[in-house]
Amino acid sequence: MKHLFIQLLPGGTALLAALVFLRPGVLPDAMRPYVNTYPYAVLGVGVFLGWYFNRSRVVFALLLLALADAALLRFGVGESTGEGVGRTVFDALSVLLPLNLAGYAMLNERGLLTTRGLRRLALIPAQVVAVLLIVLLDWQGPAAWLEHPFVDVRLTAWTVLPQTALATFGATGILLTGRCMLRSSAIEAGFLWTLVSTFVALHGIRLGWLPTNFLATGGLALIGGLVATSYRMAYHDDLTGLPGRRAMNEALLQLGSRYAMAMVDVDHFKRFNDTYGHDVGDQVLRMVASRLGEVSGGGKAFRYGGEEFSVIFPHKSTEEAAPHLEALRRAVAASRFAVRSSGRPRKKPSTPKPSVASRKEVSVTVSIGVADRDDRETDPQQVLKAADKALYRAKSAGRNRVMF
Ligand code: GH3
Ligand code: MG
Ligand code: MG
Repeated sequence: MKHLFIQLLPGGTALLAALVFLRPGVLPDAMRPYVNTYPYAVLGVGVFLGWYFNRSRVVFALLLLALADAALLRFGVGESTGEGVGRTVFDALSVLLPLNLAGYAMLNERGLLTTRGLRRLALIPAQVVAVLLIVLLDWQGPAAWLEHPFVDVRLTAWTVLPQTALATFGATGILLTGRCMLRSSAIEAGFLWTLVSTFVALHGIRLGWLPTNFLATGGLALIGGLVATSYRMAYHDDLTGLPGRRAMNEALLQLGSRYAMAMVDVDHFKRFNDTYGHDVGDQVLRMVASRLGEVSGGGKAFRYGGEEFSVIFPHKSTEEAAPHLEALRRAVAASRFAVRSSGRPRKKPSTPKPSVASRKEVSVTVSIGVADRDDRETDPQQVLKAADKALYRAKSAGRNRVMF
């Protein structure tokens, strides 16, 4: 929950700031040139970063927002609440924007200038052509369908958006919120805020707000998500979610004159992998990592590499860190993990056995070596080496123990 909140915070703050400052007449005229360049800056920076990090989803979504803005300014603003061409374009955009955002949020990343990427990009001009055809041919069918009321119109009289658009925004909102809660990645949070900003942009037209500013804020939320996700990818380990070695090295440089450092290694893990397979091994690593993430005493856990982890205790000596490591060791040893038994028959038995029979509880243990920074060893790499030596002693002494 806390994690989700942290991910939603930047985009939410950006939208709140836009709602406060970017309504007409709030900022002094002297600021106008800056406000006018804001959407171009978002588009330029966003497309560049999206291309650079190979995030086609972000590039496509930004292009879509820019295109929608151009269409709103050309046809929609002012006319959108009335009838005719402006209204049809507005209606079409207010249904197509959430649909496209949902699509881009759900797509797997397939690159930008690849065949698949370009094929997806082609969906944008296809929609432009479709909307233009409806408008130019004065095609009444789709235009009327977009305006079709499903419930009493008085219930939705608070907004200019047609009911079809409200339903699409609502469904997409639920979908993106669900994805945010499940995946909890910054890019998903960015897409959710882009959706909300797009809604504000369309809804605000009747209030005289310039949609450009709010569409740009949606783009900004996407850029924020992209940067945060890239940062996370560089510093966090994909399998376990723990910060990785790069993060550990940076943390070591920021430590004061007193800290303890532990190296944690899973016992006989090669054998475990050989018995239950690499996938089960990966799951066990995740389980061990989640125990490490809960370590007490202010310790911070990292995945050092493979089945080796490290824990740093700022301002602590080995003696002070030891009880917390001992508790960690016991917590790992006590964790049970269910795997399919290797003696499971290949063919389905004619009389099915109760499912408990095909499941087997396994557990792993860890060995821990700990050292601290003292006046002799001031170099973090030397402390790490000392912890590694202590780990080796823990292994030789029979494993499943803490040594210093
Ligand atoms: P010891 O008790 O002495 O530490 O024995 P060990 O078998 O754990 O030691 P060793 O370092 O020889 O083996 C580590 C094994 O960890 C080898 C490798 O197959 C496995 N391993 C390393 N990284 C991963 C990973 O990301 N996933 C899985 N499933 N296995 C991994
Ligand atoms: Mg090892
Ligand atoms: Mg090991």
